[in-house]
Amino acid sequence: MTMLKGKTAVITGGSRGIGCAVALMMAENGADIAVIFSGSEAAANETVASADKFGVKARAYQCDVSDFAQSKIVCENIFKEFGKIDILVNNAGITKDGLMLAMSENDFDSVIDVNLKGAFNFARHLSRYIMKSPAGRIINISSVSGIAGNAGQANYSASKAGLIGLTKTIAKELASRNVTCNAIAPGFIETDMTATLPETVLEKVQTAIPLKRMGRTEEVAALALFLASDAASYITGEVIKVDGGMYA
Ligand code: NDP
Repeated sequence: MTMLKGKTAVITGGSRGIGCAVALMMAENGADIAVIFSGSEAAANETVASADKFGVKARAYQCDVSDFAQSKIVCENIFKEFGKIDILVNNAGITKDGLMLAMSENDFDSVIDVNLKGAFNFARHLSRYIMKSPAGRIINISSVSGIAGNAGQANYSASKAGLIGLTKTIAKELASRNVTCNAIAPGFIETDMTATLPETVLEKVQTAIPLKRMGRTEEVAALALFLASDAASYITGEVIKVDGGMYA
């Protein structure tokens, strides 16, 4: 499988969950990968070790994506190591759920900082390299919560809706450089993030999903792979749901 042969991809939050699946599917398809993690060093090293088996170059970098200055240094180091960057997947994300009426300032700010500002930071610092690629790609992992809103997720939904605005703007600003920018909006996907949801909530959610099950990380990664590939060269500024029909 060589859809991304010769490309270099940076995946934030590539240590676990959806980001790990994206990193490994891209590596399996020939891309060299840089995996960004914040705390899970062992998991990031595991992603890198699994990618190594596909015969590509893989490295892990510790970085808090919400930190503008730290992100700049890490992006420069990635470029020094790989010599070029074609693909950025802004996937790092957190939740701090709670009803808006009781939400603390810190819980609002920290979710916006990681999910939205983190994506800006990496797009901002890597665009100068991605613009030199003949087919640059930026893929932002948003959420159906950013499209439809979700009670208990004022901070998260706002961050994911913000990502859609960021996506459409980057798509317009970088189109002349042949860089596309699209967003993926997953529904409920089986990862550590959703593992903490109470059983009752999960049951209710699955009933509401026409396909009657949660999604798998590979089902999101498959779309990221397609959007990163040459096959998606005329798609930009789009938001594509991977949600089992929940918000169709
Ligand atoms: P996980 O909690 O499984 O993984 C989150 C990843 O983000 C980890 O690799 C984590 O790294 C990284 N991360 C978190 N904070 C930071 C930070 N400050 N700096 C750098 N990396 C960070 O989440 P999922 O795989 O479920 O989610 C991935 C993305 O998909 C998120 O943006 C999420 O909002 C989105 N999404 C998920 C859905 C789902 O149902 N799971 C649905 C819709 C969207 P580390 O472990 O090192 O901290």
